[in-house]
Amino acid sequence: MSASPIYLDNNATTRAMPAALAAAQTAMAEVFGNPSSGHCTGLVARQMLMKAREYTAQVLDSGEGQLIFMSGATEGIQSAVFSALMNIRQRRERGEPVGRLLVYGATEHKAVPEALRHWNAVLGLDLEVRALPVCGHGQHQLEVLAQWMADTALLCTMAANNETGVVSDLVGIERVLTAHNPAALWLVDCVQALGKLPLKLRQTRMDYATFSGHKLYGPKGIGLLYVRAGSPYTAMMAGGGQEGGLRAGTENMPGIAAWGAVMQALLEGRTFQPGSRLLAHREQLARALSTAFSGVVFNAPFSLAVPTTLNFSVPGVSSNTLLALFDAAGVRVSAGSACSAAKAEPSYVLVAMGLPEWQTTSAVRLSFGPLDEPALIERACAAIVRCGEVLVHARDHDAPTVSLPPASISRPKADADQTLLPVAALTWGELAALLNQHPDTRVVDVRENYEHLAGTPQAFASQVVNVPLDRLDQHLLDWLAEPARPVVFFCRTGNRSHQAAQQLLRKGHPHIRHLAGGLALS
Ligand code: PLP
Repeated sequence: MSASPIYLDNNATTRAMPAALAAAQTAMAEVFGNPSSGHCTGLVARQMLMKAREYTAQVLDSGEGQLIFMSGATEGIQSAVFSALMNIRQRRERGEPVGRLLVYGATEHKAVPEALRHWNAVLGLDLEVRALPVCGHGQHQLEVLAQWMADTALLCTMAANNETGVVSDLVGIERVLTAHNPAALWLVDCVQALGKLPLKLRQTRMDYATFSGHKLYGPKGIGLLYVRAGSPYTAMMAGGGQEGGLRAGTENMPGIAAWGAVMQALLEGRTFQPGSRLLAHREQLARALSTAFSGVVFNAPFSLAVPTTLNFSVPGVSSNTLLALFDAAGVRVSAGSACSAAKAEPSYVLVAMGLPEWQTTSAVRLSFGPLDEPALIERACAAIVRCGEVLVHARDHDAPTVSLPPASISRPKADADQTLLPVAALTWGELAALLNQHPDTRVVDVRENYEHLAGTPQAFASQVVNVPLDRLDQHLLDWLAEPARPVVFFCRTGNRSHQAAQQLLRKGHPHIRHLAGGLALS
């Protein structure tokens, strides 16, 4: 395993930048006052809050619009949808003409359609929630929008997609909206655009825009909703009147301070890599992927996407296989969106783009950030090329295991008795102690061979044998023949090793253990 992981999953979340960490710490340890307090300790905190909002207003060029701090983009989306639907209900009650469609881009983050359905049901509006199709490149079909717009009460379109990085044609969307239904409300999810695209909110017609701190080097639990001056807003949180009565609850000051630090860095423009460098990084990574994986296909055109997101598929290799291979090599990427990472389902974003099934089920998203230095990208490229070599090697020597996702090959053979037996679970420290006490311990890596080849812990590499879960049967007799010799299974997460331990325990081996939490906790 490489010493420090190469984190390329910035669209899922980012680490906090040093200035954000320092600001959060200051807000907790020094400027810890309640910004609603009238004494000086509170006033200093209030000043910090106002500064953060001021920086944000400059970055977003938000003009007269409201900037409301919230817990994240999901809350911002709820608040915008709730506000819009309350307004639609009031207009309907007044007998004003109002559309019956709630339209969202087919590739929106799930928070958007789910919020639309939820609040539509809660408020009993019975409006139709309808997905606006996208073209093969992932952009909204504006000719369809033009047909639907007159009957649309609320339109939701993201600025940049989290899976593909594809940038929406917001100018084109706005043109359709103003031409066909200027009274319609418009929400734009700007989460993946912040810091990557210029956002001049004052110059747009959008009513609501949502942002999230943890997607750009701030902490989780802080986000922001922009509400255009004069656009309807109904608070979801009532209480002590914080945020000008727009969002009650004592402010998340560490989060707000950290957010403010990120905004300040954006304004100053020195901390983040320039756009030309980001383009160069994408080129480098794309070249490495093409070298590593023959036939690799990029699932969105680079010309339409933010440079920091690459979405690709490799023929004959599932997302899960690539994910496990990259993870073993210390490269953190994701298959589609983080929320659905546990499910081996095709990416709904790529399905909406009409891509062939093999591409939608083998897609991998690699996302770097504007703080990533050239040295990290170089390390990433070297690791990617090595992953490609490992895959070829594994394929040549062990064809059947390569094209199948670990999830589908790792199921143990059906035992008549499926009762779970208690397995001794070791921590890393306990494993080290066991190896000291019993140097003859069999340490068995039950991951697939390509994962094993891509990265095995240096600490006990010489003692490890690789026996993927579906080959366990071939070794059981040997291991049972030496019952005094301990066997320790390990894998990536502790799941497959637990299954392996069950199998051997059932056969009656007395000294079986597995590494709890797997290599992930090393
Ligand atoms: N919208 C997009 C495009 C996202 O990528 C995410 C995060 O996954 C969200 C909304 C939700 O953001 P948060 O985690 O702040 O609720």
